[in-house]
Amino acid sequence: MHSKSPKNVVVVGGGIAGALLAKNLQDHANVTLIDPKEYFEIIWASLRSMVDLSFAERSLVNYSDFLSQVKLITSYATHITESEVLTARGDRVPYDYLVIATGHVYSDPVTRAEGLSKYQEELNKIKSSSSIMIIGGGPSGVELAGEIVNEFPDKKITLVHRGPRLLQFIGSKASQKALEWLTSKKVEVILDQSVDLTPTSEGAYQTSGGETIVADQYFSCTGSQSGSSWLKDTILMDNLDMKGKLVVDKHLRVEGHRSIFAIGDITNLPELKQGYLAMRHAELTAKNLRLLLGGGSEEKMTVYKPGRPIAFVSLGKKDAVAEINGFTMSGCFPGLIKSGDLFVGKTRKTYGLNS
Ligand SMILES: Cc1cc2nc3c(=O)[nH]c(=O)nc-3n(C[C@H](O)[C@H](O)[C@H](O)COP(=O)(O)OP(=O)(O)OC[C@H]3O[C@@H](n4cnc5c(N)ncnc54)[C@H](O)[C@@H]3O)c2cc1C
Repeated sequence: MHSKSPKNVVVVGGGIAGALLAKNLQDHANVTLIDPKEYFEIIWASLRSMVDLSFAERSLVNYSDFLSQVKLITSYATHITESEVLTARGDRVPYDYLVIATGHVYSDPVTRAEGLSKYQEELNKIKSSSSIMIIGGGPSGVELAGEIVNEFPDKKITLVHRGPRLLQFIGSKASQKALEWLTSKKVEVILDQSVDLTPTSEGAYQTSGGETIVADQYFSCTGSQSGSSWLKDTILMDNLDMKGKLVVDKHLRVEGHRSIFAIGDITNLPELKQGYLAMRHAELTAKNLRLLLGGGSEEKMTVYKPGRPIAFVSLGKKDAVAEINGFTMSGCFPGLIKSGDLFVGKTRKTYGLNS
């Protein structure tokens, strides 16, 4: 009697969601992970990694360190058919089950060593400047300003934001707390203005409101590109909503496609786009796939319930502003939860690494 050959599960995108799903499934199927880089990054530590390389060392991890059973393809996925995923480097990867986890596209280097050098270069840039401009007042811009002012309090930092308040993804009370914290540390915050990145003279930039900002270096924190454009000419093109998110059912399957799941920030779920939720999607989908791979019936799959809105934005190493179910907190209490280690140790453990 022949034992059945293991099924092929292809995971596209090795970010927070895809890497965890691949880890949780690697002993249950032939798992292939497609991502343009060779390493996983705990992305919410990236702003700290720019000022403290020990964070970069811990938050960039080669996939091969925890995905020993997974076949790794270092390339972009470019197309999907009913049975295969095609990649930029020319692979045709057959699947029985496909999981799309391409939340965002980053312009990251391919190897971990190059990733670490990139952070070294950012740190050199920061160290060698006396004035720094940060563009964008979302979580990345606010956290970067907090990291730089915390590590280098003598540098002149200007944060320019196009919108009327910082952290527009959460409530205005949280925005106000973040603004107060930054201004108390002498960060200049300019709201409701954009900035022309072509300097008028060396190191001088003009804002839309006619102000001049002098900066030796600038960092653009205006958000990363959504990872769904590659799906626009595929069998999933009709499953993308107006925002480019994949429409999923209660089991996180792409509507109308029984073998294709989507997890993480690429989904249209009515919840904040957060890593801890992307990890929940991965855990639930791994469980459902283990059921299906073991011959279980679809009716027994676990249903996903969208998560409650919880957001933490760190302000340096001690403070943070948090919004939990609409309730705002700021200062050292939320800071104790996030800002010391930025959940890096906890996240590493979840991926089977020592903290
Ligand atoms: C500054 C900042 C702070 C944050 N803080 C927190 C926090 O404290 N707590 C929290 O829970 N969340 C936080 N988040 C949000 C969290 O980082 C995201 O929700 C999470 O990264 C989403 O995971 P994902 O796997 O869906 O997508 P991503 O992590 O964006 O991963 C997508 C992966 O897909 C790959 N990819 C893209 N296109 C392709 C393609 N065509 N082919 C192959 N691979 C592809 C990319 O290379 C990447 O590896 C923060 C985010 C930021 C920016």
